[in-house]
Amino acid sequence: SMQDNDWMGKLAEAQALSENAQGAELRFDGKVALVTGAGAGLGRAYALMFARSGAKVVVNDLGSAERDGKKVRAADLVVDEIKRAGGQAVANYDSVEDGDRLVATAIESFGRIDIVVNNAGILRDKAFANATPADWDLVYRVHLRGTYKVSKAAWPHFVRQKSGAIINTNSAVGMFGNFGQTNYSAAKAGIQGFTNTLAIEGAKYGIRANAIAPNAGTAMTATIMPAEVVEMLKPEYVAPLVGYLAHESTEHSGKLFQVGSCWVSEVRRQRSGGVAFPLTAPITPEAIAKRWADVVNFDDGRAHYVADTRQSSAELLANAMGGG
Ligand code: NAD
Repeated sequence: SMQDNDWMGKLAEAQALSENAQGAELRFDGKVALVTGAGAGLGRAYALMFARSGAKVVVNDLGSAERDGKKVRAADLVVDEIKRAGGQAVANYDSVEDGDRLVATAIESFGRIDIVVNNAGILRDKAFANATPADWDLVYRVHLRGTYKVSKAAWPHFVRQKSGAIINTNSAVGMFGNFGQTNYSAAKAGIQGFTNTLAIEGAKYGIRANAIAPNAGTAMTATIMPAEVVEMLKPEYVAPLVGYLAHESTEHSGKLFQVGSCWVSEVRRQRSGGVAFPLTAPITPEAIAKRWADVVNFDDGRAHYVADTRQSSAELLANAMGGG
């Protein structure tokens, strides 16, 4: 349709622009990057990007793929692709649930680890009424526990060398929810909380942790997206943000970025101005009902962004001190 054509034109423009505006090359020579779930989809695009920029890459994936009609390890395909292009990579076939083995592969093969991209993922979509504990546990284990296990294994290396970058994978669904994805949205929201605290604890060691909410046409989304949309949402359009966030020149930490089809943004939390009820009289449900329109008002010029936990409690403490 007309609309689709406009879309593609804009995409071509954006690509041309991004190529023209490129500054100094962000290289990863001498660095080791571990990408989980890198046998396909987004992870594959990250692995190829890191290798192209000079990094040694651990390509983790427990999945299989097909080559010349034969079943092969998905990770091997990507490692071969990197090597054919002159890059350095090694495969790891363990589940992210065994995070220490993934990090051991990096240390044994390349002697260090600098970058962890927690990307591996699965879906077990079902309406909550039909969702089973097994689905819940599996999605939790791969996404949140896997992210934890790999990060936990890399952490002592990062602390010792006083540097390290972790990029975790959230989703729009982790922010807003989606029908049939209670398990997935809970795991993704958990990953964001985990990322926020890692960033705080890592700051004094020069360790940064960020999360991205990507959109890409992959095996995970191909079944629910039309083919033209899959084509517009190439994983290659997401990978450069991961490269930027992983690079030692980047200062951002504890942030969430939404990215897809060459569009990159930061997402942050907004809070209404709030209502300060006097502490002198007991606050009642009725009193709140009366002021409800003000509690949820984002248009009175008092709505604001909240950067951290301390800032988030400033107003309520001020009210307790008699400011309200
Ligand atoms: P994908 O299915 O193409 O790739 C995921 C890879 O992870 C697969 O190759 C799979 O074999 C591997 N994997 C699964 N379980 C694993 C485990 N236990 N250990 C190691 N590897 C494992 O999916 P994708 O679209 O590339 O998704 C990558 C990440 O991005 C996921 O975390 C996903 O939730 C997230 N995400 C994707 C989209 C999107 O639009 N594609 C949107 C939001 C979030």
